[in-house]
Amino acid sequence: TRTVMWFRRDLRLGDNPALLEACESEGVLPLFVLDPALWGPAGVPRRAYLAASLRALDASLRQRRAGLSVVRGDPVRQVVLAARAVGASRVHIAADYGPYGRRRDADVGEALEEAGIELVRTGSPYAVAPGRVLNGSGSPYKVYTPFSRAWAEHGWRGPVDPPTDVHWLALDDRVDIPDPALPDGIELPEAGERAARRRWQEYVASDLGDYETGRDRPDQDTTSRMSIHLKWGEIHPRTMLADLSGDTRKAIGTYRKELAWREFYADVLFQRPETAREYLRPEFARMQYDDPDPVLDAWKRGRTGYPVVDAGMRQLRATGWMHNRVRMIVASFLVKDLHVEWQHGARHFMRWLVDGDLASNQHNWQWVAGCGTDAAPFFRIFNPTSQGKKFDPQGEYVKRWVPELRHLDPQHVHEPASAPGGLPDGYPAPIVDHGEERAEALARLEKIKK
Ligand code: FAD
Repeated sequence: TRTVMWFRRDLRLGDNPALLEACESEGVLPLFVLDPALWGPAGVPRRAYLAASLRALDASLRQRRAGLSVVRGDPVRQVVLAARAVGASRVHIAADYGPYGRRRDADVGEALEEAGIELVRTGSPYAVAPGRVLNGSGSPYKVYTPFSRAWAEHGWRGPVDPPTDVHWLALDDRVDIPDPALPDGIELPEAGERAARRRWQEYVASDLGDYETGRDRPDQDTTSRMSIHLKWGEIHPRTMLADLSGDTRKAIGTYRKELAWREFYADVLFQRPETAREYLRPEFARMQYDDPDPVLDAWKRGRTGYPVVDAGMRQLRATGWMHNRVRMIVASFLVKDLHVEWQHGARHFMRWLVDGDLASNQHNWQWVAGCGTDAAPFFRIFNPTSQGKKFDPQGEYVKRWVPELRHLDPQHVHEPASAPGGLPDGYPAPIVDHGEERAEALARLEKIKK
């Protein structure tokens, strides 16, 4: 038999159970389909990173005297064509649990079946596949803490080795891996499985021990930055969890809990796919929101007059990533100070975030907007100025991304209008008054409670 290994969000050779299964055959075609439905809406950083990751996977395969066959088009047609071209009887994948991926895989499975080819799912991008963690009465968890306990008890298999002695196949009519040009000033982290492993090992050896204390400080930048590698499956969370097992330090426990949030949100989206767009708590759909124009644009461009918000929004565009604390601040600002529905912000994030992941993104947005899982009440409203002062006390994070404020003393960075020379040239005055908008948001909340 011959098989196809269809790579999607698992761009690695190590610890890849689907690949191991595919390799139990006489010949394996490593395939990636550039799907216009996903490639089209992605912003430049996301595309550029994916392309770099594909090149890295191709390079790893080349070291094994193979290569990644890349094709372009609707997977329903392309996967069948590729499988037929090499005479494969099975196509192997890691299961995708997002709404689009599930639909696509069902359609591809049907088309393959008509062609007499089997679609085989092995593993997923998670330590525990969505849908597996259930409470005593067999229902999914709705809040994080009991989920995370049951998730840890559920456990997961250990990492598996990369395949050896494989006869690799290639397509004749494959396309080149695209090479989207990045605008000046955009820098992306190194992509690929080796880079992911290196980053993870460095992080475990250096900053991980300080995770507990440093994770909320965007100026110190001591989080792992593994989200991008996880998003594209350049490393599997199981590999990371195995490296942490047995370590009882508090920081390690906290880090493990963050990985569990990723799994929890994947589970919530799997159970409730409509929440990618709809309010998880339906009463929030009745809340009064404002027309997003023109404030949404000021927010996107980092010109709200609130330094930490502007720094975050500019970091997002410049690097395709934003620190978690700042993601929370800018999201709260959009929903509660500008009264714009969370879906607008989530869409902008998905366009620009290289780690943009539907489950983590939509549900973190819903959490900040007070309409999601868990106890994040709407009435807890971030003050962007005091958040900035608390988590970026010297203003170093702001200064990195907002050059107009670089000359200010630390005590004025988060309130530039209070600087001795007044508001610096070129920097906007606050587009809204936080105190007033806070009161307005709370008044709107009262209305939906009635
Ligand atoms: P670390 O602090 O080092 O955390 C380690 C890993 O744990 C992360 O890589 C990630 O996989 C996971 N993790 C940490 N925090 C969360 C969380 N709150 N929810 C889910 N998983 C978490 N994360 C994404 O991966 N993709 C997104 O599209 C995304 N959108 C977000 C949108 C908003 C509004 C907010 C508030 C958060 C969002 N997050 C998202 C979660 C979090 O901000 C990022 O995972 C984190 O900043 C990535 O940086 P890191 O790898 O250095 O994180």
